[in-house]
Amino acid sequence: MMLELQDLHVSYGGIRALKGVSIQVNEGEIVSLIGANGAGKSTTLRAISGLERAQSGKILFNGEDITGKPSKYMVQKGLILVPEGRLIFPDMTVLENLKIGAYLRSDRDVEADIQRMYALFPRLKERAWQMAGTLSGGEQQMLAVGRALMSKPKLLMMDEPSLGLAPLVVKDIFSIIRTIRDSGVTVLLIEQNANAALKIADRGYVLETGRITLEGSGRELLSDPAVRSAYLGKS
Ligand code: ATP
Repeated sequence: MMLELQDLHVSYGGIRALKGVSIQVNEGEIVSLIGANGAGKSTTLRAISGLERAQSGKILFNGEDITGKPSKYMVQKGLILVPEGRLIFPDMTVLENLKIGAYLRSDRDVEADIQRMYALFPRLKERAWQMAGTLSGGEQQMLAVGRALMSKPKLLMMDEPSLGLAPLVVKDIFSIIRTIRDSGVTVLLIEQNANAALKIADRGYVLETGRITLEGSGRELLSDPAVRSAYLGKS
């Protein structure tokens, strides 16, 4: 097991965003966390990333208790978040954005990894010298993922990678997520697009107002009657 949340509680002032969340992510898996607006999905990823403090509960990474560690420590451990809204640097080129992803690395493989990113995202190669702020939404999402991969993550956490993207681009992004998993990176994905997220997931969890209400394989959740009516719009 790579990541384990044990009974995690997170509050914002009086608002209890997570009320005892326990999930597990095994090495090499894609795990999808689905839920409605405000269920606590982003809060879960922000807590794992050290951006929000847990009131109680534990976060274990490869057996180490990392609860309460600062976000820089999480990054050094290889826990990397691709935040919602992408947050690339708009006034820097595609190539500069990719290089920034490698800023904590001291090895000499950065150039080779940039070439690997270009192979994974040919569109970024064509646009290496373009200002990132002028990329399309889908290209910006690819850049955000590429930049995260440049830090050599062990666990890649993705916050709504499909948000605001056209259906064909969403398909591309999800196929890239699969490629990333196949290359040995473990993925924890949160999505409102439950259908796409569960289709690629090895396992998934349903989060409702700060609590996990269901868990299972992606296939089990896709055929679960409660998931179908609440999240897939099917009866
Ligand atoms: P969405 O899909 O809409 O992004 P989410 O499942 O990611 O939703 P969160 O963003 O984790 O949900 O929010 C969980 C709850 O915590 C919500 O009720 C939200 O209003 C509240 N919340 C989130 N961030 C803050 C904050 N900085 N201050 C106060 N309340 C917050």
